[in-house]
Amino acid sequence: MKRLAALALVLFLAGCSIGGAKSPPTPPPQAATPPPAAEPQPQPPQTPVPQPPRQPKVILDRPQVLQGDTGVLRLDLPVAGEVTIKVQGLDQQPRVFRLDGRPIAFVGFPANARVGTYPISVTWPGGQAETAIEVVYKQFTEDRLTVTAEQEATYYDPRQAEEWARVFALRATGWPAPLWDGPFRKPLEGDLHITTYFGEIRVVNGTETGRHSGMDFGADEGTPIVAPARGRVLMAEKLIVSGHTIILDHGMGLYTAYYHLSAYDVKPGDWVEPGQRIGRVGNTGFSTGPHLHWTATIGNTPVDPWPLTEAAPLGFVRPSPQTAQ
Ligand SMILES: [Zn+2]
Repeated sequence: MKRLAALALVLFLAGCSIGGAKSPPTPPPQAATPPPAAEPQPQPPQTPVPQPPRQPKVILDRPQVLQGDTGVLRLDLPVAGEVTIKVQGLDQQPRVFRLDGRPIAFVGFPANARVGTYPISVTWPGGQAETAIEVVYKQFTEDRLTVTAEQEATYYDPRQAEEWARVFALRATGWPAPLWDGPFRKPLEGDLHITTYFGEIRVVNGTETGRHSGMDFGADEGTPIVAPARGRVLMAEKLIVSGHTIILDHGMGLYTAYYHLSAYDVKPGDWVEPGQRIGRVGNTGFSTGPHLHWTATIGNTPVDPWPLTEAAPLGFVRPSPQTAQ
């Protein structure tokens, strides 16, 4: 009996010491004081203090872009629900996509975008942030064309309104993820003969008609045109001004288009890989000689295609099958 009583006492004391309710906790040692070598004192259980979740930050890839250039806006945390981006002064608002759950959007500025600051507001369920991007002046040269009365009539053909409405509707939809895996290739192989740059001020028979929506490369009729990046063929058909036309969807609202072709090697719905032949250079539609007109658009806003060939859009590089583990 004595031994049992002694054991009970030991258990009782042990229970007390585990609970630690009788002795106040020792404050933690101050910085620069090495912790005592003695065994640590028991600490009272910590009740976690609920922290409000951190608000996402809005990140612009750069604070300034040139006229006709493209910015990238992203949130640094995944956000559920609808996210909207409103760029004051921009006709076409950016479409929001997601990479790893984080909202991201291209912000495309046309060649004739007003120079100056564009305030941007971003809203998501439970949050909102403001930022701004500055559009900087870029000098565009003039492209003066003298064409026949018949060509001029083609240029102003009112039936093209319906065609462009259809193109615009197609480009309002698209693949939601990036399909490229690095910088874009040039659409023609070998040396390029650039005849007109993106954004040039176009003057047809003495009348200013707007900006050149892409780059023109002079090339022989029948020269193969290659896909600059992976994509899906959105359109392959003849239009009044752009002639035989191919439009590729590269995902996330980024499209490229190829005008004035003589022949197609693809049809709508086809998937194309970088370097794959998609068509041949021609002289169809409003064209004054065999050439390829190459356009890039963010949604329906034409932007300078050349930067696509210099760096991967979004800096996004998909691991190649050889390196992916
Ligand atoms: Zn052109």
